[in-house]
Amino acid sequence: MARPLIVAIDGPAGAGKSSVSKILALRLNFTLVDTGAIYRCIALKASRSGVAFDDLPALQSLLDAVKVTFRMEEDKNHVFLDGEDVSAAIRTSEISLAASKVSSQPVVRNALLELQRRLALAAEHGAILEGRDIGTVVFPDADIKVFLFADPAVRAERRYEELFQKGHEKPVDQVLADQNKRDKEDTEREVAPLKPAPDAVRIDSTHLHLSEVVHQIEGLVSAKRG
Ligand code: C5P
Repeated sequence: MARPLIVAIDGPAGAGKSSVSKILALRLNFTLVDTGAIYRCIALKASRSGVAFDDLPALQSLLDAVKVTFRMEEDKNHVFLDGEDVSAAIRTSEISLAASKVSSQPVVRNALLELQRRLALAAEHGAILEGRDIGTVVFPDADIKVFLFADPAVRAERRYEELFQKGHEKPVDQVLADQNKRDKEDTEREVAPLKPAPDAVRIDSTHLHLSEVVHQIEGLVSAKRG
């Protein structure tokens, strides 16, 4: 059986990956694999179980037993950790920073590699994977690779609005500082750092509407499908 079409969307926090990927998945009827949500689940499970992010044996046993699944319901991509819907619990600022810490551990990245590939390859029509290392490590042979980025101040504004809408108000300066910290950790880590694949199409979303980014990527998909 032919492999599903794989669309890799990488980029830093706040560039619009999640919104764009969700809309694309719904419009194209593709499976959405939010790989950041998987790292967030591990961070949540570790912090709930009191496992330090550098305690490698404890992290390994946690990874051996963890189960992360997704379900699209009413246009919302729900994330389940060991059967519990943690869609809201994994989106706090604390878990964002914790995910960045835990994701720098090779033991964690290795354990999650197969899961990400399996979720994508099980797709019926095609898969959209969003993350930091999809086009470089998870699917270096992805059919379409996009690196989505934007000005850091604009990204922080977007994140501020998102948090505000969820009732978590936080000064925008603090949001920017957290974002810079996460960008630095994600870019400078030794294993699978955040960087564009050499053959990725780079899209700067600083001055683009969501719909414009979606249309650009849909154009790439149509061109690939011929
Ligand atoms: O995309 P999101 O902000 O939800 O990702 C949370 C964290 O998970 C990132 O800051 C990054 O450290 C990590 N991550 C990663 N590789 C991916 C996706 C996310 O290291 N493919």
